[in-house]
Amino acid sequence: MTSLATARPDDVPAARAPSASQPLDAPPTTPAEVIARYARPGPRYTSYPTAPHFRADASEAERAAVAHAWATATAPLALYAHVPYCERRCLYCGCHVQIARDRGLGVRYVDDLIRELDVLAGLTPFDRPLELLAFGGGTPTWLAPEDFARLVRAIDTRTATARDREWSVEVDPRSVDDAYMALLLELGFNRFSFGVQDLNAEVMQAVGRKQGVAEVRAATQAVGALPFNIDLMYGLPHQTLATQAATIAQVLELGPSRLALFGYAHVPWMKKHQLGLERHGLPDDHARLELYLAAREQLLGAGYVAIGIDHFARPDDALAVAQRAGQLHRNFMGYTVRPHLDLVATGVSGISQVNGTFTANAKDVPVWRDALDRGQPAWQRMLHTSPEDQLRSAVIMDLMGNFAVDKAAIGARFGVDFDQHFAEELAQLAPFVADGLVTETEDRVALSELGALVVRNVAMVFDQWLGQSQARYSRTV
Ligand code: SF4
Repeated sequence: MTSLATARPDDVPAARAPSASQPLDAPPTTPAEVIARYARPGPRYTSYPTAPHFRADASEAERAAVAHAWATATAPLALYAHVPYCERRCLYCGCHVQIARDRGLGVRYVDDLIRELDVLAGLTPFDRPLELLAFGGGTPTWLAPEDFARLVRAIDTRTATARDREWSVEVDPRSVDDAYMALLLELGFNRFSFGVQDLNAEVMQAVGRKQGVAEVRAATQAVGALPFNIDLMYGLPHQTLATQAATIAQVLELGPSRLALFGYAHVPWMKKHQLGLERHGLPDDHARLELYLAAREQLLGAGYVAIGIDHFARPDDALAVAQRAGQLHRNFMGYTVRPHLDLVATGVSGISQVNGTFTANAKDVPVWRDALDRGQPAWQRMLHTSPEDQLRSAVIMDLMGNFAVDKAAIGARFGVDFDQHFAEELAQLAPFVADGLVTETEDRVALSELGALVVRNVAMVFDQWLGQSQARYSRTV
């Protein structure tokens, strides 16, 4: 799956090895050429600082500070459960996935998730309202229905459900039948995210994902009037402007309230199975940009609103409403209208964000399980953020969510003079201003419509941690 990114910090994988930006000498003539000049590796900022900067070698003092922050947290809760299993591997997959046909593995995995809930409930109050519950993977619905239900009921009995709650689940349409969808509804899920990626037979054949529009339609229709997302991907073998347009048209007929449009990240040095795509040929940077821009135009033409860097939503969707109000935020879950929550993650590779701290779980099931056997959280890396991190996080998340920063609001919130504090960064924005991508006034830094396409590059200007790790990032455009 490729949505709800809690446990898959998309800051980690890279689409290309780091390279210098393209030469800036020749004046570009089209918007696409302007944007193409900014294509370079960079974080996707599902958090700031980004995941590669969480420390595996945290000091005792830092561990104690993290423990204190967890113990004294008071914000309402979001809870994430990561299920790493899938039945077959899609060749484009960049997630941390375990391929397994034996559903019996899920029995023990759910047992361990429930044990982890109890470990974490000993570290931070669980009697806070649970506003958001999210299941991601892998394929959450790989779990046998009875194990899935057992896990949800265990969560329910250990937490205090908020009145205004969002329970969301990633669903691989190939993994569910009507009975499984009915169970999800009965359990209380009220937002669904369907991983589709593409519907063209040749593309699906190349990526090893057997999927037809009929099963996607059946799964989406099963949710009735409830809102659902569909994830699409561009940059796959055999995708052309025509095949992509046909896929999008078919998907729009299903009536999603949101769509995610992710660029395929080719990282065969990390994900060897992706080599299998190379024999089909992959679109180059120019073709990728064309695919993205064409998809964007088609979705905007269909009445959707562009949300952040890779989402689209109906104008009445909560994300679109929040964006219009300048209240859209971003975290490991992607875009959110609930930035006030403490995010507690369970399962391998889950990342928690609680009261100014980040903690990242072990990625391998045995390591994760070992920690639980000792009654410990399975945290392998952590970070206790500084006030400067929090200030820069607010700036970067405003850029990523709202494509603008209100200088006075940030200044008042953090007790700084924005222009003085960020004098160097504001100077670095000059090329963006010259290219018509950013405007800077006394009150605001704002991206133009075209500038929104390079928002990651603009955010990088405010990132003090950039370059302090060996992380390889995906291309910003
Ligand atoms: S369904 Fe495919 S893309 Fe999604 S996590 Fe599993 S292997 Fe990866």
